[in-house]
Amino acid sequence: MVARVTLEIALRKEFDYAIPPELAARIDVGTRVKVPFGPRQVNGVVTEVLEESTHTNLRSIVRIIGAQSLVTPQVLKLARWIADYYCCAPEIALKSVLPDAVRKEDARFKERLFVRLSPVRAEMPKLTKRQQDILHVIEEWRELPLQRLLILTGATPATIRKLEDKALISIAPEVDERDPYAKEEILPTQSMTLNAEQALALEKIKAAINQRAPGILPGSPNWKQTPTLLDSKEARPDAGGTFLLHGVTGSGKTEVYLQAIAHTLEQGKGAIVLVPEISLTPQTVERFKARFSSGPLRTLVAVLHSHLSAGERHDEWHKIRQGRARIAIGARSAIFAPVDPLGLIIVDEEHEHSYKQEESPRYHARDVAVVRGQMERAVVVLGSATPSMESFYNTKRGKYELLELTVRVDDQKMPVVRVVDMRSEGRKQKGVPIFSTQLKEAITQRLEKSEQTILFLNRRGYSTSLLCPQCGYVAECPNCSVSLTFHRRAAKLLCHICGHSAPAPSVCPEPKCRSAAIRYSGLGTEKVEDTLAKLFPQARITRMDSDTLKKKDDYRRILGDFRLGKIDILVGTQMIAKGLHFPNVTLVGIIYADLSLHLPDFRAGERTFQLLTQVAGRAGRGDVEGEVFVQAFTPFHPAIQYARRHDFIGFYDQEIEFREQLKYPPVGRIALLTLRGRNEDKVRLSAEHVRTELEKFLAQPRQGGKGTGLGDLVIAGPAPAPLARAETFYRYQLMLRTPAMTKLSRAIAAMQETLALPDDVMLAVDIDPVDLA
Ligand code: ADP
Ligand code: ZN
Ligand code: ZN
Repeated sequence: MVARVTLEIALRKEFDYAIPPELAARIDVGTRVKVPFGPRQVNGVVTEVLEESTHTNLRSIVRIIGAQSLVTPQVLKLARWIADYYCCAPEIALKSVLPDAVRKEDARFKERLFVRLSPVRAEMPKLTKRQQDILHVIEEWRELPLQRLLILTGATPATIRKLEDKALISIAPEVDERDPYAKEEILPTQSMTLNAEQALALEKIKAAINQRAPGILPGSPNWKQTPTLLDSKEARPDAGGTFLLHGVTGSGKTEVYLQAIAHTLEQGKGAIVLVPEISLTPQTVERFKARFSSGPLRTLVAVLHSHLSAGERHDEWHKIRQGRARIAIGARSAIFAPVDPLGLIIVDEEHEHSYKQEESPRYHARDVAVVRGQMERAVVVLGSATPSMESFYNTKRGKYELLELTVRVDDQKMPVVRVVDMRSEGRKQKGVPIFSTQLKEAITQRLEKSEQTILFLNRRGYSTSLLCPQCGYVAECPNCSVSLTFHRRAAKLLCHICGHSAPAPSVCPEPKCRSAAIRYSGLGTEKVEDTLAKLFPQARITRMDSDTLKKKDDYRRILGDFRLGKIDILVGTQMIAKGLHFPNVTLVGIIYADLSLHLPDFRAGERTFQLLTQVAGRAGRGDVEGEVFVQAFTPFHPAIQYARRHDFIGFYDQEIEFREQLKYPPVGRIALLTLRGRNEDKVRLSAEHVRTELEKFLAQPRQGGKGTGLGDLVIAGPAPAPLARAETFYRYQLMLRTPAMTKLSRAIAAMQETLALPDDVMLAVDIDPVDLA
């Protein structure tokens, strides 16, 4: 027998190895193996098992890594799709489907010595008083870690061994599973009675789940024989089964998810829940654990989270692999969780850009979720209060089914949103104000009533630029084409791209100038906080952005204090915009709403609309109606006006027109090719070379005489990237727009095979990019 193996070193090829007879029974698709390669030994994953190879003189597999094949055939198939679609080497795609904590060769369960009571004996041997005392302790516990027993009794290991000698107890190593949530006290919750819209949404999701064949419960006789995709004809991708749940903030989407998951479990299948990293808070996890970690099914929820220790991650992952946990909840990479059989995938806040991985493989977890759903006949539910243009467009084209929740649970009103024209405020207050008169008044009222306020500005630091009016000097990063941000507490100028840091000068750094008239201008959260403290000396103000979060627990602590009412005003960046529920918050202020509108990105309007709607959704989730102030310099921009009216459809309708005209996503698809290197001329020439090669390739008729079918392709560039220089690298881009991405992906991959670039110039291919910088 022969195994086809993808090596973990980047080669873009697969190699055949002979399977030694003694390993034959244990080698399967997905098994990780150690194989000889040249003079070395390298790790790889078996992707196929064959009768024979076309090659002769095969070398043999050396050994198996890990007890169990780690990559399930389903996930393997998904990795291959990623490699094809996102134009990356298969080994890179394969690597990303296993967490490092699992992939490491020495990764294993932690074992500890456990003391266990032996089965009762008729005749009790003679014991000393001390031995009897210890035995009583063990009897109480029946089973406990040796370490713990030593602490409880103050005994030495030798004393306890004596009990073992008398066959009263046994001491043996046992897997000591790490449970990151062991310390949390989680009270079980019951399903709620749904309102009419929730019930209808759930009905449709349940019907789709029922349409798909029932799964097999772990431990049942057929458990191992679940048909795999690779050999099952019946498991072809089929239409339908993907829903977009568009529900305003507070409309009870999560309750719909929970009940859909419950139904999935009843069908003998498992579920994956994706949430953006930033919302993967203990609160979120708790809501899922509270519903499922107790009760008749005793289903465990496993959490895949980068904040867990490597050991915890290892154990959580294996709980899923072994089928003990049937629900996997995590950020982006949890889409690769080996849940099997898989019945349901939930992608919460599906519009979030953090679902896109910004390094190779540059996959979008939402899109991978939809593909995985089709491959495994699982139902997919994408949820959001502000769906992406892509997903909503897909509902219009009948690819996804739209489910709507238009009212808040208990008919709470949507907050009143007031847009403040900061241009006229600027005339009134002379200069560019941070707070409009209206917002100041509103804050004062909240302080008087002991209600809470959230203020949002999506920019950290104190001032965003340092400028000398005498000589025109602007403080720029020496490594990147951006200006440095002044951080007052740290008394530093910082680059937000590369982290470059310099002491903040008090005179112009230009040797010939040295003027003391330098000006710091532009606004960040630090300055909002300081100004606020001057305006409201009695208020308790806390800032939350990546500068104030130093310790692992800071995020939780600050939110805990806010919840307990120890903070009157919370100032923060987008990290306070997401999914937080605080009933006592009745005022939300958005300091400069149009900050994100002026980025060189066709999604600037969409992003602004989403951000405003999400932030506004933080207000008025208790009994009191919420109020939102949106301060803006372009108050009539559609993104701001539609957000004010909570009108997603209105926003979508006008935005899609503009996308249609320019064939931007979701109407067309984009691939972004970015070249980077330290020598600007080489980078530019390389970018031109890539364009020529690509055109050459596209002009070539395919085998069989037909063209590439990329007639509508538009190539823009090469041109310097919006971020023209980053971390000392110059950057040039080519933007390709096409109605048919799969074909273009293939063309790019083929072009790359023969492409020769200078050693110091790198090409990054980003399919369906979300960040155009
Ligand atoms: P969303 O995810 O849409 O923002 P949530 O699912 O967080 O909304 O629901 C908001 C609040 O309403 C939560 O506290 C939730 O427990 C509660 N809730 C949800 N559905 C119902 C219901 N049918 N009846 C009563 N309360 C509900
Ligand atoms: Zn100067
Ligand atoms: Zn920099």
